[in-house]
Amino acid sequence: MIGEVPGLTRAEQRLRVALILLGLLSLAFAIGYVLMGVLGDSEYPFVANSLAKDGFFAALCAIAVADIRRFSFTVALVIGGHVLLVLGLASALVAGDTKTISHTIVGPGLGAGTLVWVWLGAASAIVVLFSWLYESAERARFGLRYLGHAEFRALAALAEVLVPGHDVSPERVAANVDSYLAGFPAQGKWRIRIALLGLAIYPLLWLRPPFTIMSLDMRRRFVERRFVVDVWDRRLPGPLRTLSQAMIRAAQQMAFLGFYGEERAQREVGYLPFSARPGAAEAIAEAHRPHPPLRCLGPRDIHGETITTDVVVVGSGAGGAIAAYRLAERGRDVLVLERGRHVDPTDFTESESTQLGQLYADGALTLSKDFRFQVAQGMCVGGSTVVNNGVCFDLPDRVLDRWLDADGLDAGLDAAALRASFVRLRDFLPVVPMRATGPLNPGGAKFVEGVRRLGLNHAPWTFGIVSANIGDCLGCGYCNIGCAYGKKLSMLDNVLPRALQ
Ligand code: SF4
Repeated sequence: MIGEVPGLTRAEQRLRVALILLGLLSLAFAIGYVLMGVLGDSEYPFVANSLAKDGFFAALCAIAVADIRRFSFTVALVIGGHVLLVLGLASALVAGDTKTISHTIVGPGLGAGTLVWVWLGAASAIVVLFSWLYESAERARFGLRYLGHAEFRALAALAEVLVPGHDVSPERVAANVDSYLAGFPAQGKWRIRIALLGLAIYPLLWLRPPFTIMSLDMRRRFVERRFVVDVWDRRLPGPLRTLSQAMIRAAQQMAFLGFYGEERAQREVGYLPFSARPGAAEAIAEAHRPHPPLRCLGPRDIHGETITTDVVVVGSGAGGAIAAYRLAERGRDVLVLERGRHVDPTDFTESESTQLGQLYADGALTLSKDFRFQVAQGMCVGGSTVVNNGVCFDLPDRVLDRWLDADGLDAGLDAAALRASFVRLRDFLPVVPMRATGPLNPGGAKFVEGVRRLGLNHAPWTFGIVSANIGDCLGCGYCNIGCAYGKKLSMLDNVLPRALQ
């Protein structure tokens, strides 16, 4: 019984052995209570209650040991039972009513309360030990590197609701998210854990069982009712509504990320990665980057305590890179500091989750302070220009007017100089109109045609295909996860290498 079970992880084997020992101990206590009742002078209600308690613990342990994966939830019941025991003993200590228990079990002579303290300590140790064993076993079972098992199960339960009936199992979706979250350091990742934990216990607020143990139908109804209807009808008080929206938004986003990152899911929805599309291999082979790759120094390349330079530019994005270029052009010695990683475009992949982790601040998980919207900000050498769409347009007059409004922002900008800067920048990057034909999505041209036919292209609106700092685009559609082909003239591919030259 205590030997190794094939197929279980070491952590699961460890939990199983601990359950066997606890089960035997509980069984021994159960028998001991009966003997004390029959042979000794222990009071009947005490004996009956104690027999029921330890018999129940022994039974739960036996069920879990029989199939630790299938019945792992019984471990949670064992832990929960011991938590109740701790609370019961603590309340006896608070009430100062310990004499009866001491007398009943070990007879007079032991100081009142001593046994209860020992008992309390043992029950607390079981809670701590089994919580750790249970968590490690569950994490090992699913190979988790970041999420706790409660969050993992909550996400899997939501994935089953949101993307049902596919080849990709909900556990697989949640495991993909775990790999994604483990793949990058970020301050804001804890919010995802909180959101998933919140989702797991949110139904308790409505006197429903935890999300993870609801049936699929019940979960589906709960999600529709509490996260759609209640929010739409504004049935929840403001702060609770905001929190519940943030919680479901974060959890939902993770579920979709984990699902669509899976190759099988992509096949199911008919998505083909660019490199596998007809003609892509030839186009990629002919693609040349506009400048030699950028060279950067990492912390390990810096020796000594001091770097001497004329100018330090903090940040290598659209502002910092242009400033560095102009300063270098004037013969200044410039040091550009960047907190994000330097990822060479040859190392870009077609995996959205990998690229989000590599190139975005907080893996694109940054939320506004009120949790209402997401802030997708690049955090890498080249900044957000590496992950934007490259679309460029001059500042609209109405916006500039607002900035210059003496009663408003009063930014004090020289409007003529600003306009001249836009012209220079268009020439410098360069910014070019995108073609209606070629690799661009044909839907774009159709949309413009539709607007024209409806006669909507009149002042103050203008319609057309955008201009962008993109040249000879291959049309892969990966602008938001970084261009691996040197076609987006970002700071990483264009301005910083030129500044270095
Ligand atoms: S510019 Fe965007 S769409 Fe064009 S090749 Fe680069 S990543 Fe692909």
